[in-house]
Amino acid sequence: MRRIIVAIDGYSSCGKSTIAKQLAEYAGYTYVDTGAMYRAVALALQEGLFSPEQLDGLQGVRVGFTNNHVTLNGVDVEDKIRTLEIGNLASQVSPVPEIRRFLVAQQQAMGAAKGIVMDGRDIGTVVFPDAELKLFLTASAEVRAKRRYDELAGKGQSPVYEEVLADVRDRDYRDTHRAESPLRQAPDAILIDNSEMTREEQMQRIIALFNERIR
Ligand code: C5P
Repeated sequence: MRRIIVAIDGYSSCGKSTIAKQLAEYAGYTYVDTGAMYRAVALALQEGLFSPEQLDGLQGVRVGFTNNHVTLNGVDVEDKIRTLEIGNLASQVSPVPEIRRFLVAQQQAMGAAKGIVMDGRDIGTVVFPDAELKLFLTASAEVRAKRRYDELAGKGQSPVYEEVLADVRDRDYRDTHRAESPLRQAPDAILIDNSEMTREEQMQRIIALFNERIR
């Protein structure tokens, strides 16, 4: 059986990372959450590790993964990046071409040996246009806001549903309207709307597609 690249793109909070992680486990592949990489760069900006005026400072920023936790200059920042504030900042810094080039090059290197499941916004369109399996996940804004609300509440934060919904809509707008690598479905990506699907139904469908492709 051949080792392949699985590219999973889609809107924020539609369960991409859960699905990608489960598929990677099933396949014995490496999982890469590229949203976490943009979040880590946003955190680096917030912590003054580089400035928007001096983007060559990015070269001193090291983003990596240890046990699926994102690291910034070797420090586990998984908890710090999972806030609405950093999510928003990530969506503001992600249109900057130098930042995209910086992260895309690292993502392509991570996939050079195949056997990888990567999720994000531009994986099937820009990072791996030749990926053997491309999925494009979506769900209604309300369903996604409810999921994000539950996730934040579960972490002990005190979200307000209307704010979370407004945030989901703002982020959708920014992700689809930016000039640099806007979120869009690659022509050869398979669309999965999971608003009305259980996790198990969705996983079964994706595992079936994966097994078809590795044959
Ligand atoms: O998926 P997540 O919410 O963690 O992503 C944070 C932000 O990073 C997104 O809103 C998007 O602007 C940006 N992003 C991106 N390209 C990717 C992954 C994430 O522009 N491949």
